[in-house]
Amino acid sequence: MNSQLLASPGQRAGTPPSPHRGDTRHNPTKGKFAAQHRRRMFRADLLTVALWASLAAALALWLADGGVSSVGNATQAVTAVGILAGLAGMDLVILMLLLAARLPFVDGAVGHDRALEFHRKLGKPALYLLLAHGLLLATGYGMAEGLNPVSEAVALWVLVPDMWLAFVSMALFIAVVVTSLVAVRRRFPYEFWYFVHLLTYLAVATALPHQFSVGGLFAEGTWQRWYWLLLCIGTGSALAWYRIAKPVIATYRHQLTVRRVVRVSPDVVSIEMTGLRLNELSGNGGRFFVWRFLAPGMWWQAHPFSLSAEPQVGPTSNRSSRQPSLRITVRNLGAGSARLASLKPGTKVAIEGPYGVFSTAARSRDRVVMIGAGIGITPLRALLESTPFAPGQATVLLRGSSPEELFLGQEILELCRKRGATLFHLTGPRAAHGRNTWLPASADSSRLRDFVPDIADADVYVCGPTAWAGQVLAEAKSSGVREEQLHYERFDW
Ligand SMILES: Cc1cc2nc3c(=O)[nH]c(=O)nc-3n(C[C@H](O)[C@H](O)[C@H](O)COP(=O)(O)OP(=O)(O)OC[C@H]3O[C@@H](n4cnc5c(N)ncnc54)[C@H](O)[C@@H]3O)c2cc1C
Repeated sequence: MNSQLLASPGQRAGTPPSPHRGDTRHNPTKGKFAAQHRRRMFRADLLTVALWASLAAALALWLADGGVSSVGNATQAVTAVGILAGLAGMDLVILMLLLAARLPFVDGAVGHDRALEFHRKLGKPALYLLLAHGLLLATGYGMAEGLNPVSEAVALWVLVPDMWLAFVSMALFIAVVVTSLVAVRRRFPYEFWYFVHLLTYLAVATALPHQFSVGGLFAEGTWQRWYWLLLCIGTGSALAWYRIAKPVIATYRHQLTVRRVVRVSPDVVSIEMTGLRLNELSGNGGRFFVWRFLAPGMWWQAHPFSLSAEPQVGPTSNRSSRQPSLRITVRNLGAGSARLASLKPGTKVAIEGPYGVFSTAARSRDRVVMIGAGIGITPLRALLESTPFAPGQATVLLRGSSPEELFLGQEILELCRKRGATLFHLTGPRAAHGRNTWLPASADSSRLRDFVPDIADADVYVCGPTAWAGQVLAEAKSSGVREEQLHYERFDW
């Protein structure tokens, strides 16, 4: 079944209804999005500059120490390249830690998932550089002392203080990168990968002592030592603040408690939570938090789930009995999410976030298009509720194999009516044969532009299964939507 649902009761499709009376929150200001967008792009550019600058600075430490003038023969050249590889490799590791540190500046500029994608991309180059560092130094020092690289490595391990820690560090880095390779990581539960990944911190901690005690570059009294120390201390502090202290503070500050669990379909539940100061979390429609439900058998796992409704921030009048509340909607996709259906009211909840830019923060245009499938519909529900647009300037496309798969569909219909958005239900099975399409078989000759003729001038938010979303994104691009207008939330890892 494909159906277009009218934007507002009694109106013809495509005719914008009059704005909701008395509601002044949603007045669009093109300038507002344009300025916000420019700021975000500028921040992203700044980040790129900062990444390259930090790498250049790491190499400049050696150059400023008279590096080039110390290279007079092949032995010294091999040693010099080894030192440079170590500096660059360690700098990449520090950048990786900062990309995963949930820094608001990074999250706001490129979004959490893109930051992590880049973090992952740096993993292999960092490891190769660190391996090259070890091999080249063992070779260079060995050439100077007339030893082969293996004997030299053994001598370094045994005779040089702190060097054994560097070997341990290398083994840990190898374990972390290998278990992060897609082919390997998919074989293990998420939690196994996560705990191995935590070893990165131990790998960095064990790599540091030899950097300061061996070799002259970071000798006491040098500015290079101070630079490196500040870089390491700054990174450690950012991690401690954003990954440990902030979540603890947020958990304590908001005191979230499960109020009730509502079944949405046989494998989907909505979890409503009450808490304090939820007004501080409003305006985050579509963003996600990492949730830890503090119940037996669940407390040791944390899972990312997006808000499926804007936080209700409490009674608006004395007559209202509305309690402050927050809601997520969860599909049973594995053992952890399955257990959430049995959560008891009163269960305490620890949170981290909000993260990501699947929200108004990513808007660059006045028009907005939201395309969701399956459980991916739920963050769009929250976004639809909160993101500004004028009546007639938003289109929502929901895809499911049956009407029951359009989770929270009734709420979305009501919101579309209230706010003057055009809604399409695209239900039915996929075409058994023929072209790969994100549409049901009954509409597989349609194009995105048939639903949203002016899509090229809209922000397009997409959330749904990876392969399906890939097809939507490809079609949006071929319809003239630029990369910066596409906002995609991945639910897989
Ligand atoms: C940004 C984001 C927002 C999400 N929002 C929602 C939502 O609103 N509703 C919803 O139903 N689902 C959402 N998900 C998916 C949800 O997090 C996973 O389905 C859930 O974590 C699966 O855990 P499990 O133990 O049930 O399954 P498992 O069998 O352990 O895993 C199933 C899949 O989920 C991945 N996964 C498991 N734990 C995590 C984790 N802590 N972090 C990242 N991936 C993990 C696994 O790698 C695997 O691909 C979201 C995912 C992300 C990354």
